[in-house]
Amino acid sequence: MQVSRGIAASLVALGAALTLAQSSQPQDEEFARSVKEWTTRPEFMSPLVDHLPKAAGVPSPKDVLGYYVGAPKKLTYTADIYRYYRALAAASKRVKVFSVGQTDEGRDQVVAAIADEDTIRNLDTYKGYLARLADPRGLDEAEARRIIGQAKPIYFFMGGLHSSETGPPEMLMELAYRLAVEDAPLYDQIRRNVIVMIMATAEPDGRDRYVDWYYRYKTASESENDGIPGPPYWGKYIYHDNNRDINYSQVTMRNWLKFYLEWHPPIMHDLHESEPLLYTFSGQAPQNPTLDPILYAELPWFSNFEMTKMIGYGMPGVWDHAFVDMWSPGYLGFMSSNHNGMLRMYETFGNGGANTMRRNLGGRGGEGGGGGAPAGPDAAAGRGGGGTEREWYRPLPAPGQLVWSMRNNTNYMETAVLSALELTANFSKTVLENFYKKSRNSVESGKNDAPYGYVMPAGQADMTRVAFIVNILRLQGIEVGRATAEVKLKEGTFPAGSLIVKRDQPYGRLAKILLEVQKYPDPSLRTYDDAAWTMGLMSHADVREIADKAVLNVPVEPVETMQVAGEVKGSGPVAAIIENGANSLVTLLYRLKDVKFEATEQPVTAGNTNLPAGSLLASNSPRVASEIEKLGLRAVALASAPDVAKHPVELPRLAVYSTWSGTQDTGWVRYALDHFEVNYDLIYKERVRQGGLKGSYDVILMPSQGGRGGAKSIVFDIESRGKPIAYDKTPQFKSLGMYGESPDITGGMGLPGVLELEKFVQQGGTLITLGASSYFPAEFGLARTVDAARPSAQFYAPGPIVEAQILRPAHPIFYGYNDQTIPVRYAGGPLLRVPAEGRRWVLMQYPGTDKSVLSGLFKGVSEIRNHPAIVDVPTGQGRVVLFATNPAYRWQNLGEFGMLANAIMHWDRFPKLETGPPERPNGTGAGPGER
Ligand SMILES: [Zn+2]
Repeated sequence: MQVSRGIAASLVALGAALTLAQSSQPQDEEFARSVKEWTTRPEFMSPLVDHLPKAAGVPSPKDVLGYYVGAPKKLTYTADIYRYYRALAAASKRVKVFSVGQTDEGRDQVVAAIADEDTIRNLDTYKGYLARLADPRGLDEAEARRIIGQAKPIYFFMGGLHSSETGPPEMLMELAYRLAVEDAPLYDQIRRNVIVMIMATAEPDGRDRYVDWYYRYKTASESENDGIPGPPYWGKYIYHDNNRDINYSQVTMRNWLKFYLEWHPPIMHDLHESEPLLYTFSGQAPQNPTLDPILYAELPWFSNFEMTKMIGYGMPGVWDHAFVDMWSPGYLGFMSSNHNGMLRMYETFGNGGANTMRRNLGGRGGEGGGGGAPAGPDAAAGRGGGGTEREWYRPLPAPGQLVWSMRNNTNYMETAVLSALELTANFSKTVLENFYKKSRNSVESGKNDAPYGYVMPAGQADMTRVAFIVNILRLQGIEVGRATAEVKLKEGTFPAGSLIVKRDQPYGRLAKILLEVQKYPDPSLRTYDDAAWTMGLMSHADVREIADKAVLNVPVEPVETMQVAGEVKGSGPVAAIIENGANSLVTLLYRLKDVKFEATEQPVTAGNTNLPAGSLLASNSPRVASEIEKLGLRAVALASAPDVAKHPVELPRLAVYSTWSGTQDTGWVRYALDHFEVNYDLIYKERVRQGGLKGSYDVILMPSQGGRGGAKSIVFDIESRGKPIAYDKTPQFKSLGMYGESPDITGGMGLPGVLELEKFVQQGGTLITLGASSYFPAEFGLARTVDAARPSAQFYAPGPIVEAQILRPAHPIFYGYNDQTIPVRYAGGPLLRVPAEGRRWVLMQYPGTDKSVLSGLFKGVSEIRNHPAIVDVPTGQGRVVLFATNPAYRWQNLGEFGMLANAIMHWDRFPKLETGPPERPNGTGAGPGER
């Protein structure tokens, strides 16, 4: 360590000498003095960022904000960040700023573009070149070469996606200024050859909420163990998972995708914070093999260059392997690699604020350190190993104990991105050629490699879930066609109107990635997030993979967006809405709350229409018919209600319970309920402890929370550190107290809260727990005869899709489900067990065989064999319904959502399931799912 630090110091001196020789601009001396003071070791600095030029008439960040980037205890609100970029653009013809949309909370989403004056003036021309390279169909090689000769790559930076990772939005302001004004040859070359675009903040709502929280609670922290949790919310629904929103449900993320597909940046660079001191992503295994091999060569090309430059400057702790992989396409920045661009990613060491802190690098790892919101799944993964060991991919490791400052963070990140821009500027034509080739190869792959396409047959019972898939594909820029006539292929004959995805298109590879079954390449490799996402299985929609090349020639008309027109067939005073599994059935009930609905309890034929159990009956009226049509539902008008067992539908008084640390998993459920217009109260420990729950609610829904921390973390939640931490709005901190308020978010509901929930159930309430929350009723005695066990240490199931077997098909929870086995996402919920006499409570179970793993990786599937997936347990006057699955997971498994919707619609009609005489298995002993 001593030796390498000595080398580092002399390299710093050498590098500084080289750079100073290049610059003749007047320099901001106070900047140089300040950053030297804030940089905690000489080797944490580089000659690229130890100075800042002055440029007459062009404001530096300090001129607008009043402080330098990286100043201790200074974080910048979005309004001020935007104010800076707009002032810079007003003063410099090298900068242009535009808004690309608005967030949930109405904040602008701002992008700044920086290049030489001529390029900025002709930005639309360059946009046109990239669009042509992005869709090279009909472009011959000579023409492609001509366009590449004229085009310039856009290098698109994204910072601030994760709000607790506070450095990137600050650093990017200084980068923008430097790129606009600095006159060293490096900058001329970048401005001439590259168009730099900067996403000012990726998640503006979360940025402002986090900055509020920082100024309210965190400015006094001196070490990472300050005990202060992050704010309960970043965005409206989710926090860390904004980087897992594979279907772009969140409006902010959708706006970024639209921007991406308008501008086609060949490189998109996502700036995160966690790992010491700077990790640059090289695209390690498991890699999705469908993406272009060129990409997998480009990624280490860039990361090795950055590492080379930074080690040359003597900066320790830079590394480029053993953290995050190229398997899931669901990370936000993957919008680039998914669309033939190049995803780049850093993790820079951060303090979760702008305080200077003592940090101990021994044994840490994973995002979520530094006082962010509760860590995401990556925190537990902990790959990479702290940054202090020498490895082949970390030749100059970081010291184990250090003092780390915001300016160190700025120095590292800015030096690295300037190195990346240096490489891009030197090889801009290679970047463009590769972008063109990856786009061209995607089209060619669709012509030459099976599968050649996908068919979603028309005439499926519920086309709304087909439309969901089609519209996500369209959002991703994938072309979908509607067959103009019957389609005959080796795989079968499909009716006119079937939806066709041909692979010979620029994003044909992405279509394959999203629609195919995930065959995990190497079970010995772990992955950073989900192993499976197959859209047809997740949506319970029929999507056929087509190996018949003739699919490429099927005549189609292009689909812009897919609307399913509902209909009421025939005429008569009774409308019978067919239970076809459409999730919008529940929406109909909420939209027409004043209309009396009944639900059929058995299948019945009315005229020549089959009405499955769960079909809804109402007086036919133009208003009812109009909503049915808008929601894509199918109904028949009848002369009279069919003669079949039925019950009135009474919507419950519904509460959704959230811990203060688990708002994200609740957020995904809220998003789904809001989307389908289900009414509910969002409640926290404050309401539970107040008691009288049965007087206010019929159903309490507890979304998956607590994770591996299990039930105790639901009950005790954020540990109290002796003083209250309020989440409420104050005149100074206006973005706090949204989506719930608390005088103290610590402490959890505690045992008094558990007792109130037990009273609720005993008095006749229905408690529904999802996924990891299902540990709670088992372990805290609300469903005391049910056991919730954990799998073994060898068990590894990162979100595969598996079969589940329906054991009680007549139960209202399965209205709309016609098959005995259905695909579900394995949610990591508890291994539930029921007593032998409680077998009848088990509504669904996992077969747990190798054959039952439908997509992705599952190691140890036999551990779930015959364990319940849903249990409906009578308790007192009420019941507890435990899902080991999660039917509202990240806006993905819409095929499972119907089970949750049914539980809400038919909450008061679950069959009586009292404990009866034991059903002893004859000599076979109890199965694994029985206790
Ligand atoms: Zn992050």
